[in-house]
Amino acid sequence: MFRAFLIKYAEIGVKGKNRYLFEDALVHQMKFALKKCQGEFSIHKSQGRIYVEAQGEFDFEEAVDKLKNVFGISGICPVVYVEDEGFGKLKERILAYVDEVYPDKHRTFKVHSRRARKEYPMESMEINAALGEAILQAYPEMSVDVHEPEILLNVEIREKIYIYSETIPGPGGMPVGTGGKAMLLLSGGIDSPVAGYMIAKRGVKLDAVYFHAPPYTSEWAKQKVVDLAKIVSRYVGPIWLHIINFTDIQLYIHEKCPHEELTIIMRRYMMRIAEAIAVETGCLGLVTGESIGQVASQTMQSLAATNEVCQLPVYRPLIGFDKQEIVEVAGRIGTFETSILPYEDCCTIFVAKHPVTKPNVKVIRRHEQNLDEKIDQLVKTALETKELVIAEG
Ligand code: ATP
Ligand code: MG
Repeated sequence: MFRAFLIKYAEIGVKGKNRYLFEDALVHQMKFALKKCQGEFSIHKSQGRIYVEAQGEFDFEEAVDKLKNVFGISGICPVVYVEDEGFGKLKERILAYVDEVYPDKHRTFKVHSRRARKEYPMESMEINAALGEAILQAYPEMSVDVHEPEILLNVEIREKIYIYSETIPGPGGMPVGTGGKAMLLLSGGIDSPVAGYMIAKRGVKLDAVYFHAPPYTSEWAKQKVVDLAKIVSRYVGPIWLHIINFTDIQLYIHEKCPHEELTIIMRRYMMRIAEAIAVETGCLGLVTGESIGQVASQTMQSLAATNEVCQLPVYRPLIGFDKQEIVEVAGRIGTFETSILPYEDCCTIFVAKHPVTKPNVKVIRRHEQNLDEKIDQLVKTALETKELVIAEG
């Protein structure tokens, strides 16, 4: 029965002059999401609303699922539209609508009509009264409640007439693309894909960087990260994933620096390299999956030590989350099953038995000087040999 959706968007409705930019970004992301559905859709903006209309056969559940991935949407209302063929016809359609959508008639309702087309021959109040009356006559089990109706029947009179009463919750947030772009440090773990999702939910587009260490980390480990990027891209749009070969840098740090500081120094180089790519690609910040106290490299002292090598802001949307909360989001967004595949991670190779948990930044800086001879060249080579995968799932 439903051939169209009315899309509700909360936050972006109040952005004044920027509203068009927000709406355009939303439409763009909706097109991206619906591209993967069977069927053709037309999306149009009209007087502060966005409508999606199916152009032929389509799968209702699939279209709703895809729209639920689009940040900025607060509600998805399945809509029936009818041509304006007189009030008698409209009455018939309303009765058919109520009958089909609410087989159990023991409900309270209210009709709420709006005229975007003012030359329509009846006023809103008259329409409400006449349609309410018709419903009560046809379905005597139903009753009117103007304050808290169980069913709010919306009737919008535009070029066509739109009828809707159900709202499927959307993900909320802001449309991707309205908030600039950030560089996500994407590992194969549980946390970083969730961190990317959360930043994207605030309208930020994502690029990503992954550090691998062949032959210590396998092709499988790399493919897992590509797969995670593809899953995140369902919400964000295509993600440019930069893959850095980190092996020589890791081996060099291992050779020259105290082993208990290996992780922290390695993390500092990851941040430096990520920042270099971020600056080059127009990203305005870095994003990591860190959360205070989760592991040795995520104490306040360790975070301070990794943070100080960057000029760009580092966003850590999971900073106050417990693992369980992160796992819950990972499950919901569909990254969890991939994240727990057991492939090696470059952070876990050569790792010391007792890594420092409270690194002293001055000491770390001093030990990093051991790397002076070759590190710049190694970083340069790592950047020059990076691989780019455009992940789109
Ligand atoms: P995750 O579950 O995201 O792997 P984690 O709990 O394993 O996180 P760490 O290994 O300390 O934590 O990594 C902290 C953050 O550093 C990650 O969330 C990610 O943003 C980044 N990171 C770690 N390893 C890599 C890597 N190999 N490539 C890219 N980013 C990485
Ligand atoms: Mg990890």
